[in-house]
Amino acid sequence: MTFDSVFFDNASTTKIMPEIAEELVCFNNDYYFNPSALYYHLHRMSEQNKPTLENMRQSILKCLGGDNGKLIFTGSATEASNLAIFGSVKKNTRKILVSMGEHPSVYNSALELKNRGFDVEFVNLDKTGKVDIDDFEKKMTEDVDFVSIMHVSNETGAINDIARLVSIVKDVNPKAIFHCDGVQAFGKINVNVDDLGVDMYTISAHKIYGSKGVGALYVKNKVSLKPIIFGGGQESGLRSGTENLIGIYTLYRASQIVTKNLDENYNKILNLKNLFLQKLAKTNLKYALHSFEDNSPYIVSASFEKCRAETLLNMLGDYDNIYVGNGSACSSKKMGNRVLESMGVSKSDIEGNLRISFGLYNTPEEVEYLVQKLSERVNMYLTNAR
Ligand code: PLP
Repeated sequence: MTFDSVFFDNASTTKIMPEIAEELVCFNNDYYFNPSALYYHLHRMSEQNKPTLENMRQSILKCLGGDNGKLIFTGSATEASNLAIFGSVKKNTRKILVSMGEHPSVYNSALELKNRGFDVEFVNLDKTGKVDIDDFEKKMTEDVDFVSIMHVSNETGAINDIARLVSIVKDVNPKAIFHCDGVQAFGKINVNVDDLGVDMYTISAHKIYGSKGVGALYVKNKVSLKPIIFGGGQESGLRSGTENLIGIYTLYRASQIVTKNLDENYNKILNLKNLFLQKLAKTNLKYALHSFEDNSPYIVSASFEKCRAETLLNMLGDYDNIYVGNGSACSSKKMGNRVLESMGVSKSDIEGNLRISFGLYNTPEEVEYLVQKLSERVNMYLTNAR
């Protein structure tokens, strides 16, 4: 069986759900007004069931379990996390704690704070890719005022126990702010920001079948946040700039759909992951897995012995139209991998590391095709390398 193209890089992005794309035509005709203009609010806010900006905001908050907070729409998850970090760190912030596993949107923001003279500590990961609890407890001292730890790793699918980490933080310093990057968690595993206890939580539309260029930051009531973008004062003054209404519509609808189908989708993806691992185990390939059973099934990190991931990735793309990732597609990858290094993965394993991430439009047939081609290409690579 052959395929036109097979996409196994769903952690980097997803396509807009066809049903949402269809609805967009109607939405665009009816709701092209500037959402911050007075006439729009007077006219639309009174119509209860219409997807006005405020109704969409409330609906997404409900999907997040965010009864005790607000939602700020941004131009990406990267921007949402930047708002969380640079909007809450103040001159008198004493210490900042982030993990070595963070996506560059958080990790590089932390490095920037360090460059600006702030005291920033990085918490190590354990062998399974989760935040090392012992190291976290050691570094979570009473002078830590801001913490940012991701929910699900975009590299390995490791799930951090956010509720436990929040409770450690608040026990030591009840005033410390806890931000969580939930981009690879929301819509894939159970998320309830109230139960997690976080102060802020970042989400992105294009990881859950909405459009690119839309993110949002959940902010718990009473968290004091300053804007990082100035202008017309939209989004409660926290993110100036006319809201991307079309993009927000895709986030709103995608949030509704993925939240409603969470268990069904999870089981479907788990079956694809298990099929992948079973089929892979039957090949003659030598590989190491850096994703474990209690991870999110949406992401598998695997290293192929004596291979260079970049070459494999190109072979699969060029010859077989199969698209897989090698780590975070949001960053132009330099050699090495900070996340895997922090887990203690060897340099040669890092070189041969691929990220396979499953999505709702993948089928078991595509998974079988992936393993068949992966096996052929790795064997071809090793023969040519001899
Ligand atoms: N955080 C995580 C965990 C991600 O995986 C990504 C994208 O790969 C982002 C943040 C950035 O999302 P966006 O593209 O919306 O800025």
